[in-house]
Amino acid sequence: MTNESSDLGTCPLCESPVPASQLLAVFGSTERTTFAECPACGDIVAPTDAPLPEKSNKE
Ligand SMILES: [Zn+2]
Repeated sequence: MTNESSDLGTCPLCESPVPASQLLAVFGSTERTTFAECPACGDIVAPTDAPLPEKSNKE
């Protein structure tokens, strides 16, 4: 089940979704670090992985 989103992830500062269009650079080979400009706070951030689209209470 793959939910492909155009978001890079979530801004760690303001928790706003960062769209892929804001992508600036991707660094790293083993651990990928993505840098993008957050549209909400205007900072260069490393977006966290996109939040789970579905919140299922499966634990
Ligand atoms: Zn932000």
